Amino acid sequence: MSFLNISNLEKSFGPTRVVHDFSLAVEQGEFISFLGPSGCGKTTTLRMVAGFETPTAGRIEIDGRDIVRLRPNQRNIGMVFQSYALFPNLTVGQNVAFGLKVAGASRALIRARVAEMLEMIGLPDLAGRYPFQLSGGQQQRVALARALAVRPQVLLLDEPLSALDAKIRVSLRAEIRAIQKKLGITTIYVTHDQEEALSMSDRIVVMHQGRADQVGTPFQIYNTPATRFVAGFVGALNTVQAEVIDPGTGRVLLAGTEAVLDRALPAGQVTLGLRPEMVSLGPAPGRETVLRGRVVEVDFLGAVIRLKAELGGEVLAFDTFNTSQKAPPRVGEEVSVSLAARDLLVIGPPA
Ligand code: ATP
Repeated sequence: MSFLNISNLEKSFGPTRVVHDFSLAVEQGEFISFLGPSGCGKTTTLRMVAGFETPTAGRIEIDGRDIVRLRPNQRNIGMVFQSYALFPNLTVGQNVAFGLKVAGASRALIRARVAEMLEMIGLPDLAGRYPFQLSGGQQQRVALARALAVRPQVLLLDEPLSALDAKIRVSLRAEIRAIQKKLGITTIYVTHDQEEALSMSDRIVVMHQGRADQVGTPFQIYNTPATRFVAGFVGALNTVQAEVIDPGTGRVLLAGTEAVLDRALPAGQVTLGLRPEMVSLGPAPGRETVLRGRVVEVDFLGAVIRLKAELGGEVLAFDTFNTSQKAPPRVGEEVSVSLAARDLLVIGPPA
């Protein structure tokens, strides 16, 4: 039995079902992300765990206890929202103390815990400030401290970084993850940002149209996507059509060139996926399949140059590192690219 068990969870709003047969077992101390596009049901699922929505069917258990009928404040859960939701008329210290005060904690305990929490989020001197006197990143840290002050069993975060600017988002990712690890608190994190999910999570649940398409480690989700949707949603992806010549060995004709995937394939046409970083400009060790063609797009981004080339009727996007010694290829230039057939993902039948 895992620490947090969600079984066969369903949610309908009127006639519309927005969460379908959602099951997930989360271990104690695990950091799980719900990742998916807008409207896929991730917030609704999180809100059912928090107690803000009632499931149409299914069970949610924490530490062996069915919590579906408990009110949010009886669930021993801490929650952080996208909009910081701090009490504007309370100081930082009073915000962090809020849950403890409601729970009737002693003044001494509250004082010690608030100091500990503010230390933990790196804002030990800001107890007397009001939310409007803080930056967005600071407000979100305080919201985290407020959620954790009551020592909940589970921490839920709903897109906590999406209102912040890019640099702060990246540094807060690492901070949230470090605090979560230090406390060993079981966490569910909702995001539509694949990089956030990949960089922070022990496991990711990729959601699509109210269902969990795949549950796996970031490595599994990125390298062995279970569905066409997961392959396309997480990471950049080239898709190419190929004709299977020998289903047994996975020999295919791809952009006019033969390649052997070393995997059984269905007969006929298949759609294959290839990450841009699995394609090299020119020859590369271990990348035995060589395709020739012409550059159709060059995007100079500084550290990397993003290229698109037309190769035997297929267009592949790929990156090459900038070197000051060599000018980037130009549109129309003839190039060869290399790839390893084993890096090709089988995405499904032709689109
Ligand atoms: P977002 O990131 O945009 O919030 P999401 O993946 O979190 O997307 P949800 O907010 O869970 O998606 O919404 C899933 C679906 O349920 C959407 O189609 C949404 O319009 C619908 N929905 C959510 N809450 C309600 C509600 N209270 N009444 C009716 N429909 C709702």
